[in-house]
Amino acid sequence: MNLITEDIKYGISTTPEKNVEKTLYFRTKNELKHNSYFQNELKKCYGKFQSISCLCNNNKKLYLTSKNITGSAKYFLAIHKNTGTEHKENCLFFLSKENLVDNEGNYHSSIFEEPTYIYQPTTSEKKDTEEKESQRKNTYYNFCRDFIRDSYSYAFNKKNKDAKSRLTLKNPSELDFRDSFFDNYENKENNLIKNQSIKESIPKNHTLVFGTIRENIFEQLDNPKDTYSINVEKLEKEFEINKKTNKPEFKSYKLNNKKYKIDHKRLLLTQNLIKNFGNIIEGPYFFIGVLQKKEWKDKKTKKTITNYKMVRMFVHPIYSENQKISFIESNYERNYARQLFDNNIPFIKPMSDTDFSKVHSRFVNYETNERDKDNNKIWKRAYLKYRPDFIEFYENHIKITEVSGYEDEQYIKLMNRKIEHYQREGEKSNGLYQANEVKGK
Ligand SMILES: [Zn+2]
Repeated sequence: MNLITEDIKYGISTTPEKNVEKTLYFRTKNELKHNSYFQNELKKCYGKFQSISCLCNNNKKLYLTSKNITGSAKYFLAIHKNTGTEHKENCLFFLSKENLVDNEGNYHSSIFEEPTYIYQPTTSEKKDTEEKESQRKNTYYNFCRDFIRDSYSYAFNKKNKDAKSRLTLKNPSELDFRDSFFDNYENKENNLIKNQSIKESIPKNHTLVFGTIRENIFEQLDNPKDTYSINVEKLEKEFEINKKTNKPEFKSYKLNNKKYKIDHKRLLLTQNLIKNFGNIIEGPYFFIGVLQKKEWKDKKTKKTITNYKMVRMFVHPIYSENQKISFIESNYERNYARQLFDNNIPFIKPMSDTDFSKVHSRFVNYETNERDKDNNKIWKRAYLKYRPDFIEFYENHIKITEVSGYEDEQYIKLMNRKIEHYQREGEKSNGLYQANEVKGK
């Protein structure tokens, strides 16, 4: 049911061999870098003239080049000279005034800040700043999706590092997810910010806050105001002084109730993230926000006044009960996730096309008749052209599940294409993979 973000996927067309055209979809540059299937396609196109083009502009063929990341076996896509502004403004390859994410998918810390407004700007300066802000905000959303996806994938793989087969796979708990999330946040070795932890990259006077929202914060939009107050449960680490060493030691994670201010425009933009075909996906949500701190001296009392405002707000609907968590994209999916948890079925709910490629090959590969140069049989994992709603693991098979529910014509068409694709992959794998359509209603 993941149409919520389908329209912000980016497409490229590749022709590594003559007459073989492939269309690839992905959502962030980072995803391209960490997905082995995409990497393999880029490798095939490496050094081949005009073999890749972007699908954002119907009126013009915009070529991209497969390039090698210096000192690594990874590939990335580069735009052709002077075509950067010809891509659609919401395309990943549109050359913005700022370089918010480099070719290799590393984010820059300006995505956490609002661009500075010029005092009494001209009309064109105002438009410039608005454009900048819109690009920063959208890039921040992509960053959040990558951040959650990396953390969840890491938690899943860590939980199952010793599992021998699908039979012994386990779902990571909410605590496992928090561990991975904080690890990603504090560690220099994260995939999102270059040579720095995410925590260190947050600009001065800004704070990254995250956690859970259980209240319907969007209800307030019915009575428009300039500023709203939202209640969130902020996820924090709790420390305790070790009496022997006299040093603080990590004790547990805690959700602290906080109230933050957010302006009308921002809350409205955030609401768009949880709309699916005009339907609002109910909470709870996981949120990642940026608080901006402003300080000034009161002229009369000479006291310093401090004000915090939410300048970035990303939310993602979740299933969150009994210490279990899953990032879902519709109310139907939340019900389905509950069923899977209740029946102890290990599964992943892909946030992007990369999640599946991160699952260890011993759980997902099947034997083919193809041979490599040393005459060994080649093992493969299913090629998932679309992002499934759920991938469920059973002893002898893997279910690729779509949870249907909406009646929109376009939605049903896409659903049928997806199921057909999974069925073909199922045949190729001699039945290891099975397409599974679930009626959400
Ligand atoms: Zn483009």
